[in-house]
Amino acid sequence: MSLGVYIQVPFCQTKCTYCNFHTGVVSRERFEPYVRAVCREIADSARAMDCSEGHELTAEAQSAQRISRKAARSPQGTPVDTVYFGGGTPSLLDPAGLEEIIGALRKAFSFAGEPEVTLEADPETITLGKASAWRAAGFNRISLGVQSFNDGELRAAGRMHRRDDIYRAVEFLRAAGLANISMDLIAGLAHQTRSTWDASLGELLVLGPEHVSIYMLEIDEGSRLGKEAIAGGARYGAAAIPPDDDIAAFYESACKRLAEAGYEHYEISNWALPGFRSRHNLKYWRREAYLGLGAGAHSFDGRARWANIHDAAQYAACIEKGIGAREQVEAVTPEQALDEEFFLGLRQLEGIDIARIEAVYGGDGLRDRVASLRERIADLQRQGLVELDGTRLRLAADRLTVSNEVFVSLLD
Ligand code: SF4
Repeated sequence: MSLGVYIQVPFCQTKCTYCNFHTGVVSRERFEPYVRAVCREIADSARAMDCSEGHELTAEAQSAQRISRKAARSPQGTPVDTVYFGGGTPSLLDPAGLEEIIGALRKAFSFAGEPEVTLEADPETITLGKASAWRAAGFNRISLGVQSFNDGELRAAGRMHRRDDIYRAVEFLRAAGLANISMDLIAGLAHQTRSTWDASLGELLVLGPEHVSIYMLEIDEGSRLGKEAIAGGARYGAAAIPPDDDIAAFYESACKRLAEAGYEHYEISNWALPGFRSRHNLKYWRREAYLGLGAGAHSFDGRARWANIHDAAQYAACIEKGIGAREQVEAVTPEQALDEEFFLGLRQLEGIDIARIEAVYGGDGLRDRVASLRERIADLQRQGLVELDGTRLRLAADRLTVSNEVFVSLLD
């Protein structure tokens, strides 16, 4: 048993047009109190303090919280093997602040072997000095928010960086000794064409990151782009979003080119050179335990899921007062756990072991549900959407762009 720790840093320099995350653009003065609050939450979690006072919980949630508290009681006994700083834009924090948080983690938890310690970073925030300080603080993996190498697309998406910043950032990271870099691209940005997509992918391959994520743009109704798509307007380029078929073709072309370049496609949106899969993110798809700290961070201990207050100021105030910031606690029912095995596990291209799932969930309570899933799997297999190889079920490799529809057919 090992534990992943996620640290949420909910601050950004600007709001990207497609983003509807709970992140804010705040003055730098807010960073230090936030770092202090996260460090205190780390220590509090390790001491297994009750973080629920002041929040109304259902009886089910209280029961789940008892479980989560029990899990939190023995952090020293559960070694941490991955740490992931996500956001937001965690690279906006001063290196000293990031180092303080890592120091607090090392003090509160035991670390297993060589932990994977990831920092999400935006290219324009990186200097050689910062990259060196990150390496010295213990970060050994950088997830670079590239999105595109095309300045017009970056501008339309509201990103702060430009193509040249990406090259400069990679040079600094490599010079600082960071040997595990992930880059992500978004298929479907406003004004993207097959030719600009191919060019971005080509530039990424030249830079040779160890890990690649390709996301197909999903327009969130709450984002500025989403609102424009509904209400009309020309400010954010909603009318210049490529059609769905083009976006799917961009993704499929990436699958082909990344495979040719030696990357292993291991999750719907993720590729890695051998030995560089994201150990932290694998925990999410495999339903392993992780502890989320910071505003809006989510946690899972195998039996319950819980989340902190989203508002960063309110979060810091609650932690400061010692009343904790945990607000949603939900026990995972056996039905939910069974569904999660499918919609999380099937995201991995290696698929899931149906025999194991039937052995774990096929008892009295869920016998009918498991039987119904078996019928649905057979139906999806006939349609060529999933493949069953012995007891291993996986999404059909050429139908990954419709994975959401497959999950709905399987689980609704
Ligand atoms: S940097 Fe990331 S979290 Fe921040 S606004 Fe852009 S997409 Fe959202």
